[in-house]
Amino acid sequence: MTKPSAIYLDYNATAPMLPEVKQAMVAAMEWVGNPSSIHSFGRHVRKEIEQARASIATSVNCDPTHVTFTGGATEANNWVLQGAPVKRILISAIEHPSLYDAGAKNAAIIPVTSDGVVDIAALEKLLAQSKEPTLVCVMWVNNETGVIQPIEEIAALCKKHHALLHVDAVQALGRVTIDLQKTPIDFLSLSAHKIGGPSGIGALIYNHEVALNKFMHGGGQERRRRAGTENILGIIGFGMAAQTAMEKQNFYATLAQWREDLEAKIKQAYPDTIIVGERTSRVGNTLQMITPNHAAEKQLIALDLAGIAVSSGSACSSGSIKPSHVLLNMGFAESLASCAIRISMGLSTTKGDLDAFFAAWVANSQRTTSR
Ligand code: PMP
Repeated sequence: MTKPSAIYLDYNATAPMLPEVKQAMVAAMEWVGNPSSIHSFGRHVRKEIEQARASIATSVNCDPTHVTFTGGATEANNWVLQGAPVKRILISAIEHPSLYDAGAKNAAIIPVTSDGVVDIAALEKLLAQSKEPTLVCVMWVNNETGVIQPIEEIAALCKKHHALLHVDAVQALGRVTIDLQKTPIDFLSLSAHKIGGPSGIGALIYNHEVALNKFMHGGGQERRRRAGTENILGIIGFGMAAQTAMEKQNFYATLAQWREDLEAKIKQAYPDTIIVGERTSRVGNTLQMITPNHAAEKQLIALDLAGIAVSSGSACSSGSIKPSHVLLNMGFAESLASCAIRISMGLSTTKGDLDAFFAAWVANSQRTTSR
């Protein structure tokens, strides 16, 4: 097995598990009991699950009964696409593949601007085109660019046109304020492993007054909305991760400041470098950059050899050299999109990590200028 890189800057792919999460999960390994059992063992586990559910509800300010656990955000996204009682689906051009690929065949695509922001006028036009029951899918924060979408405005438009709204908030949780009492969102997808929880656990948040057909059939778990014995360890880890993410949310302002400093140094060293989404509002932890004529995969390999882990495009498409649909749909030529790398930070990132990245990136860029 190869030794992992020493510096991890790929939090949008997955974040290191928080110590608080590990501790809570290890303690939970001692428990026995199916949460559906009525004996004291089962009731104890049920109580702990409900506490975790309450922490997740607090993190987005919703009623705990609206939180349904899933096997990750991919399941939550697929569930909404397949289960929403609609005749028409509108999906933004920058969605995660779990929506974009799963729904694109039958969906109309909402275009985005060159800054990677959903084109509100185009969305309004699409909404006005038909009175058929419609579902709109727009993510809160893009996983590749970090660009924050105008969800309040989109939610108001959906209300006006009686459309249902689904928001993939995987990269927003713990990084921007999500308040479901203020913003009317019908379906919200979350994932634990982007905030320091375990992978394979997520949630779909929705009010059960909104009809949503079942995706997983079987037992009566999760208020009969999602069958299958609960992922107890995952849920306990997710609850602790959500609580910790809320307590430490302010750190993202520090990360944004460090990122700004790094961007200034990058542009000074290579003035041609494009900072993706620079003119619009981005979440504090993400920096996507394109250095023309410096192929992403070569940069990634060189940085990895220098002990620094970053990525190109989204986690799910990394490993493939296909340029990201997000950048292509923002209007970047394939030749530029294939030179994009993403640095994503989190709660354990230090200023020294970014300094080390910059030194390694400059050294490599000086060595290789051709693709
Ligand atoms: N949506 C977004 C925006 C993501 O970044 C990811 C993870 N790459 C997912 C959905 C899928 O989440 P999960 O890994 O929990 O299935």
